[in-house]
Amino acid sequence: MEQMHIAHSEALYDRAKELMPGGVNSPVRAFQSVGGTPRFIQRAKDQYLYDEDGNVYIDYIGSWGPMILGHNPDIVLEAVRNQLENGLSYGAATALEVEMAELIHQIVPCVEMMRMVNSGTEAVMSAVRAARGFTGRDKIVKFEGCYHGHADAMLVKAGSGVMTAGIPDSSGVPKGCTADTLSAVYNDLDSVEQLFQQYPEEIACVIVEPVAANMGVVVPEKGFLQGIRQICDQYGALLILDEVITGFRLQLDGAVGHFGVTPDLVTYGKIIGGGMPVGAYGGRREIMQLVAPLGSVYQAGTLSGNPVAMRAGLTQLRYLQAHPEVYHQVGFLSHRLRSGLEDIIRRHHGNCTVNGIGSLSCLYFTPEPVRNYTDAKKADTARFREYFHFMLDEGNYFGPSQFEAIFVSNAHTLREIDKTLGDADAFFSAHSG
Ligand code: PLP
Repeated sequence: MEQMHIAHSEALYDRAKELMPGGVNSPVRAFQSVGGTPRFIQRAKDQYLYDEDGNVYIDYIGSWGPMILGHNPDIVLEAVRNQLENGLSYGAATALEVEMAELIHQIVPCVEMMRMVNSGTEAVMSAVRAARGFTGRDKIVKFEGCYHGHADAMLVKAGSGVMTAGIPDSSGVPKGCTADTLSAVYNDLDSVEQLFQQYPEEIACVIVEPVAANMGVVVPEKGFLQGIRQICDQYGALLILDEVITGFRLQLDGAVGHFGVTPDLVTYGKIIGGGMPVGAYGGRREIMQLVAPLGSVYQAGTLSGNPVAMRAGLTQLRYLQAHPEVYHQVGFLSHRLRSGLEDIIRRHHGNCTVNGIGSLSCLYFTPEPVRNYTDAKKADTARFREYFHFMLDEGNYFGPSQFEAIFVSNAHTLREIDKTLGDADAFFSAHSG
C-alpha cells in the first residue's frame, strides 16, 4: 500500500490545534479515539470527499446523516443558489417555513404542529422543555448509550462522542441539571418499568432513539418501542422519539412509520436541513400550543427557520417524497455492505458483529451480539483503530470511532461498496481475530 500524502492536513491540524480545542469544532472529528491526523476536507461531491492534499475518499459519514442523496446534489445546489439571490436571513416569517411545516405534517401526520430550530441539540432540549411544561413533571427517562445532543440534562450515558473520549459524563454540568435524568437500558422494558414504579407521578417523558445510532447501531427488538409507548400511557408520561438520525432516513416517514409507534413529540435534524444547520421538534397540537408565543413554554431562535436552510431541506425532502426508490437503493447497498462484511468475518474468523437497518450499519469488533450499551462497550476499540486506519489509507472514510454509524447515500453505487468490501477482506485476511 502506498503511503497517503497528508502534509496539508497535518499543517492545518497544527494551526487548528492552536486556536480550537482539539483542532476541531465537534469532538469526534478530531480522531481522538483512533489517533492520527484528521483529514481536512476541501470539497465533497456525490459519494466522495476530497481532502486538502487531493486524496479522494468514499464517504461513509455523509456529514453524520444529512447527505442521504450524497454531497451537493444538483437540485439542492440550484435551490440554494436561487435562495441566495433573495437574502440570507430576515428574522421574519417566510412562505418557506409554512411549506416546510406542511410537508412534514403531510409525511408524518402525528406532527400536528412544529417549531424549526438550528440543531438536533436544540430540538431535543426544546421538546423536553415542552414535555415538562405540558405534564408539570420534572423527571425524564433516557437510555444508556443514546445521544440526544449536548444540552446539560442529556449528558448522561450519552453515546458515541462521550463513549469514545472515555468521559463518563461531562464536567461543567451541574448535578442539579442531571438530577432529574433517569437512565434505562436499551431493549429492556423492565428497566423502564422499574423507573416508573419508583417515580410513578414524576416522569414527564421518555426520550429514545428509535434506532440507537450513537452506540454503533442497535436496532430495537420487536415490541420494545411499543412497550415504551404503553408504559408512558399507563403512567401519563409523554413519549419523545428522537428522529434526528432516523427521520426521513429509515423510510420517508422515519421510525414513526417504520415501527408504527406514534410519539407525543418527535425531534428532527440532519436530513431536514439537507446539509444546512436545522432541527425541528413537534407533535401533538395540545402540547405544541404551549410553546411561546401561544403558551408558557419559552423557546426562540434568531436564525430559526433560516430561508437558505429551509430551501435546502425542503428541496431534499421533496425529492425524497417524489423518489421512493432512494430508500430501496440505500437499503439495498447497505444490505450488500452488511452481508459482505458478515461473509468476510466468517471466512477470516474476524470475531466481529454486524448490526444495521436500512442505510445505517455498524461493524462491531466483538463477536457477541450487541443489543444495548453494555454489549457495545465490549467492542475492541484497539482493533477498530487498526481497521479504521487501514480502510482510510485505502480511501474509505468511516466515522473515526467504533461507535458511529456507517451512512450510505443514494449517490453510492455497487462499485464503491464492492471496493470497500475488497479492502475489508484484505484487512481481515491480514488481521483475523
Ligand atoms: N439526537 C440524535 C439522535 C443525534 O444523533 C444527534 C447528533 O448526532 C443529536 C440529537 C444532536 O444533533 P446536533 O448535533 O445537530 O445538535
